[in-house]
Amino acid sequence: MKKFVIQKNSRNILKEKMKYKYIPDRVFIDSEVLYHPITVRITNNLRKTPYEIVKNVKSFIKEFNFNYKNGKKYLLITKQKGKFIKPCPGTPHYLCCNYYIINLTLNCPLDCTYCILQYYLNNPFMIIYANIEDLFRELDSFLSPNKFYRIGTGELTDSLVFDHFTEFSKDLISYFANKNNTVFELKTKTTNIENLTKINPNGKTVVAWSLNSDRIAKNEEINAPSNIERIKTAKKIISYGYKVGFHFDPIIFYPDWEKDYFKIVYNIFENINAEYIAWISLGTLRFPPRLKDIIQNRFPKTKIVYDEFIIGLDGKFRYFKTLRLKIYKKFANWIRELSNGKVFIYLCMESKEIWEKILGWNPKGKRELGDKLCKIMLAK
Ligand code: SF4
Repeated sequence: MKKFVIQKNSRNILKEKMKYKYIPDRVFIDSEVLYHPITVRITNNLRKTPYEIVKNVKSFIKEFNFNYKNGKKYLLITKQKGKFIKPCPGTPHYLCCNYYIINLTLNCPLDCTYCILQYYLNNPFMIIYANIEDLFRELDSFLSPNKFYRIGTGELTDSLVFDHFTEFSKDLISYFANKNNTVFELKTKTTNIENLTKINPNGKTVVAWSLNSDRIAKNEEINAPSNIERIKTAKKIISYGYKVGFHFDPIIFYPDWEKDYFKIVYNIFENINAEYIAWISLGTLRFPPRLKDIIQNRFPKTKIVYDEFIIGLDGKFRYFKTLRLKIYKKFANWIRELSNGKVFIYLCMESKEIWEKILGWNPKGKRELGDKLCKIMLAK
């Protein structure tokens, strides 16, 4: 297999190219899905991008000379041979929200410094699974008509970052539009909503944007649009029948955090009526110790890993409890005041004690929280 030389200034080129729409330098296609309609759709949409056929994906990945950064330039279209749907792993000893993940695409070119995928994924390619028909078969047998489900695509990728060539949003939103007890969530930092405007979600899809302070967005969310672009895009999508959500996660502490984060919370309610917001979630920075080395190596200029942390019950670094409480309390007050108490707030991977102190209640288990989120959204 030919090896590709990465130019010195590739990071700048990548940033320019990807400002809003990611285009890979090369597409590798698993011979098993060469004539699959999804492969044909993607190659048609990426007509100018050269492609190569790969006979044995496993040995191709093993032999390919890449690292995490340059892997972002290459797209691999292959077949999901395992399960597409998994429960969100959450984190031991902390409350989780009973979220299910659909793994139809893997990895992300936005390259946030804090991204857990650098630690979690075992190869750096941008991966697209073509066999979407197997996902729909799996969903048909997984979803029971008597339960509530909250399910989404944005855990091991950004839900919309590849959508201009995969068009998966159209397939998924149409599928979930006919499900009565299921809320489908797309999580993104992009402005890539064109395909969403062509589909009627029938009140079943939430499009949620991850937000941060402007300083963190600029310095740590390297290829992502600015916060205000994300908020303006959220405002736009509401007019197409979608509800929106916002995730402040990871909230990162630094001397001016309060002023900077308040500005973004204010921007949300300046632009968006609270009745269209399904939920806002909050989570402070947390990461497994090994991710710290990866971040230091890949992003030597970032300062986010040099604060004071404790090791939480789940073995991850977190801020001290007093600081987490202070941060959550501020956010919760801002959101309650600016929305007149109309927006549901939840905490991501926090303890019952913190829930109780900040929100005045804690869910008895993950099903209670998951069901509550579904009912809130379906009633909006
Ligand atoms: S947008 Fe999410 S998945 Fe993509 S690099 Fe950033 S943290 Fe990772």
